[in-house]
Amino acid sequence: MDLRQVYTQIIKEHNGNGYHKHHLKAPTDSKEGVNPSCGDQITLELKIKDNVIMEAAFTGYGCAISQASADMMIDIIEGKDIHEARKLISLFMRMIRNELTEEDDIELLEDATALKDIAHMPARVKCAVLGWHTLEEMLP
Ligand SMILES: [Zn+2]
Repeated sequence: MDLRQVYTQIIKEHNGNGYHKHHLKAPTDSKEGVNPSCGDQITLELKIKDNVIMEAAFTGYGCAISQASADMMIDIIEGKDIHEARKLISLFMRMIRNELTEEDDIELLEDATALKDIAHMPARVKCAVLGWHTLEEMLP
């Protein structure tokens, strides 16, 4: 599959605007994630209080998919408790690995559903999951 087919407007928009691409004032945790196979790097910052992700932001560089995916992820995990965030990470991973079941409702992933076709592009999977893997490792 040609990469252009998944470069939808939504991916361009998140990569170009980076709505959540900045530093938090007082993060409770931060973690770096790297994807050497593409040269992607992100540092995710979280502010967690009473098991709720109050705020999240990231900085980094790399391909449009890695940066847009982190931005889309933060859109949906801000305000969620850790249990809900874990469920969303798991849902995203199943979507990217083409392992969705009938019970899965990918609409919960909002803009991140634009990355669905990455499941057919093994070389880009690590780009798409970089932010989500980093978040998973940070959750207490
Ligand atoms: Zn990449």
